[in-house]
Amino acid sequence: MVRQLWELSANLKVRETIPLSVYRSKRSDLRVVVADVPGPMVHGYLSFPTEAKSDDGLPHTLEHLVFMGSKTYPYKGVLDVIANRCLASGTNAWTAQDHTCYTLSTAGSSGFIKILPVYIDHVLNPTLTHNQYLTEVHHINKAGEDAGVVYSEMQDYESEMNDIMERKNKELLLPNNHAYRVNTGGRLPAIRELCSNERVTEFHKQYYHLKNMWIVVTGMVDHDKVLESIEASETGLLATHIPQSFERPFKNAHIPDLTEKHIASIECPSDDDTKGSVVMTFHGPELGNFYESEGLEILFIYMTQSAVSPLEKDFVQLADPFASSVDIHMDEYTKFLINVHFSDVPVPKIKDVADRFLQKTIQHHKNEASFDMDRMKYVIEKQIQQYYMDLEKKPGNQIHHFIMTHQLYGNIDNNAELDERINDQRALEKLIKEPASFWANLITKYLSTNKYVCVNGIPSIKLVDQISAAEKKRISDQKKSLGAKGLLECAKTMKDADAANSANKPSEDLLQKFIVNDLESFFSYGIETASNLPNKKNSTLAESFPLPTYIHSSPTKFVEANIIIDTANISPELRKYLLLHNELIFESSAMIDGKLIGYEEVAKQATKDLISYSVNIGVKGLYERYMNINLKAHHKNYHNIAKWADIFLNKMQFDGERIEILAKKLANQAADYKRDGHSICSVLSNKMCFDKEANNVICSLIGLEKLHKETSKAAKKDATQSLKLIHQLKEELLKSPINVHIVADDKLIEDSIKTNQANWNFLPNCQKNELFSTSGYKQNVAGFNQQSVMGVGGTESSFIIQKSVFDKNFTDPDVAEVILFSQYLSQCEGPLWRKIRGKGLAYGANINVNTEKKVIGLSLYRCAQAVEAYEETKKLVLAIIDDKNINKSEFEAAKRSLVYELMEAEGSLKEAATTNMLAALKHLPMDYHRTFCSKVWNLDAEHCQKIASAYIKNLFDDTKSSRAIVVNPSKVKQITAAYPQMVVSKIDNLYI
Ligand SMILES: [Zn+2]
Repeated sequence: MVRQLWELSANLKVRETIPLSVYRSKRSDLRVVVADVPGPMVHGYLSFPTEAKSDDGLPHTLEHLVFMGSKTYPYKGVLDVIANRCLASGTNAWTAQDHTCYTLSTAGSSGFIKILPVYIDHVLNPTLTHNQYLTEVHHINKAGEDAGVVYSEMQDYESEMNDIMERKNKELLLPNNHAYRVNTGGRLPAIRELCSNERVTEFHKQYYHLKNMWIVVTGMVDHDKVLESIEASETGLLATHIPQSFERPFKNAHIPDLTEKHIASIECPSDDDTKGSVVMTFHGPELGNFYESEGLEILFIYMTQSAVSPLEKDFVQLADPFASSVDIHMDEYTKFLINVHFSDVPVPKIKDVADRFLQKTIQHHKNEASFDMDRMKYVIEKQIQQYYMDLEKKPGNQIHHFIMTHQLYGNIDNNAELDERINDQRALEKLIKEPASFWANLITKYLSTNKYVCVNGIPSIKLVDQISAAEKKRISDQKKSLGAKGLLECAKTMKDADAANSANKPSEDLLQKFIVNDLESFFSYGIETASNLPNKKNSTLAESFPLPTYIHSSPTKFVEANIIIDTANISPELRKYLLLHNELIFESSAMIDGKLIGYEEVAKQATKDLISYSVNIGVKGLYERYMNINLKAHHKNYHNIAKWADIFLNKMQFDGERIEILAKKLANQAADYKRDGHSICSVLSNKMCFDKEANNVICSLIGLEKLHKETSKAAKKDATQSLKLIHQLKEELLKSPINVHIVADDKLIEDSIKTNQANWNFLPNCQKNELFSTSGYKQNVAGFNQQSVMGVGGTESSFIIQKSVFDKNFTDPDVAEVILFSQYLSQCEGPLWRKIRGKGLAYGANINVNTEKKVIGLSLYRCAQAVEAYEETKKLVLAIIDDKNINKSEFEAAKRSLVYELMEAEGSLKEAATTNMLAALKHLPMDYHRTFCSKVWNLDAEHCQKIASAYIKNLFDDTKSSRAIVVNPSKVKQITAAYPQMVVSKIDNLYI
């Protein structure tokens, strides 16, 4: 029985799997969609279609102001403070071209139901004061510069090449002030001159009401309880939040037809003037033409994905390439727009790209004989599997996306249409039967035309200086016109605004009202683990394998295998080649059934047989001594997993040419990391905290850059030496201890009991012992009093990573106390958040405990001033320890956000299975997360503080901790002046 005030307007299934109910309020027309997604997590989405008509970013501005407090809860940031007490970890939101969406995730449903009315009050009844507008959106500071959170955020986009090109593209495509042309994030001049709190308030009134809001909830919730909670909020909003007349947004947002081609070139500021970009836009199908739009999605995958696709061949895989990648995506508006984007185009070739695309690729594919229909079939089959797998991996986002498009552009009272939308796999099942002529016709209909828009992005170094000179002049004029008196007024206005915004604080009583007091028994997938090892739970299926194997049985249609190889006994000299080896095993020729197959064909066949394949050093970011090969297939193709594991590990034929190309690719990848301060900082820190022979040190892209460069160069002349080493490494890997973890529904692969023995005997020489991961493997205890700093040119910010030893296993005494106390310090709106992040000292400040690596770590991410950020953090944490003054309410919030984070790690079926795999590797019981949650739940503040203090103090003791700092080279001296024992490192010191 549905509650009286609601009508169940649809009852459907997403991709024939997940039940979905749509409720319509009889009083206000508000729609509530509930999808019964299994798992411990509940996700909520509150969304509003918004049609902006100007560039001042009203949708985005409003999104920010919503979090500044509501009429019933007029306290800045209170929503996040309450969220932590409701088993969530903060809230979030985004603004797109046509809508804004607010999100919330909690562990279990009781916290969700508690906080939902508070969230609704925030979006529908925000306080929207002028003082909030000044700090959150835009103001002029005491130095006469423009500032404000939204203003600074949008500064990043103003002169990016892609953004400039997109603006030009829309200018050519759409008339002035068109809803799909205006910038919904906000352009700087418009934020400065046009935007105002009055305009935001008016915009809020126009779009944020019950008739334009949909609430989507995914997770295991009692529908009635959700509706009841919304109903209570709704009652208070009926009089004020239902407009007398309301026209659905975008009803008249017609996209005018193109009558000819428009080509434009536009200069974009850039440090490198050798490469630009090209974007071409075509009109796609009309709204509601699902079949053709799904067809185009497939066509674009066929055209762009993998080394054998037509656009890769015509533009990328060339000795003298036209682009580094070509990507096609569609915008779903009142009509689909098709955007073809060519990246890193050499400047002299920019003018030729559009013609080459139309005259070569498109012209060629108007002919049906050009299609490789085998490959088209694999692409579609794989996409269908991908659709189902996405639903197991991230169901919430997927479902919200369907509903959002329906809310925006669908015929909302037509259930057949919604059913078609949420079952997109049906169109694919039909598309698979289409002949080549269907695909050639799609090309002819939408892409073979002279009605399109093309924007060439031309890089300009000159423009970098011109733009910054113009901005400097604008600011200096602004200062002049304000005068000394004006500037003083600006300073006072802001001081007053800051004070006014934080004058109100929620009372402890109010916060107490929103605390979840019972630890629910969270939904569990009931994953059963069995293995063929002695003294473990066995099963006939697991016992049919010829090497140590675990089966994590769970309700999934897919099979995932992790083949875990222990590299501990391989010499460091050989392990240096692991990264290169791991590239080679997926991109080399192979000897299959006595025939040598080229690398392109191998890639094509692997794509056909498997959904995905990858290899990593470490398992889920832990235990780097292991190499992990991960293969996924539909359960019907389970046999392909063993087949390809055999090919990748045994049958690849390495050669000098592939070594030359792939070693070069790895060396080039290091370049990206070298511009990233945080990546360098963690390499620097690992170098102190781990033995120099550990994979954590040996297998880093940055560390190996030089070796990869040299290997590539040498291979060009003579690859004998590197081939010898790679072969040796391969032989060693095959002799190492190997365990297999399989995640599957055991009933679906039961038939394989007869064949597993034969299919999996391709590793006859591996050691068959159980892998046991000792924590703190290859930790370099002597390194925990060292300090190292490095200057990195590409970064303006500073990064700090500090670590001390925490010699405990996960289930040891004291561990829960230290983890919870670290959470107390680091939680959202907690002490570090308020005093370090809140004061602008660092963007991120966290203390975390890692029992696998046996360390407690402090990370200060993107600091303005490294020394100040560190010293303030140290002072703050030590004061909290010494004062013994723990805020009880914040301590309880920390427990709940920690439980949220632990449950989030089991959030989807895929993640839950991973938790079981790690439990097996750690030798912990499968339910160790849940046991830990109840332990944490019962801790009290004083006890926890008492136990944790000594460990946390070590972290700030220079004789017991290692400190790595990365700064701009101009600041290295400041660091060594503050910390004389600091060793100055150069990038060369990181090379292996
Ligand atoms: Zn923003």
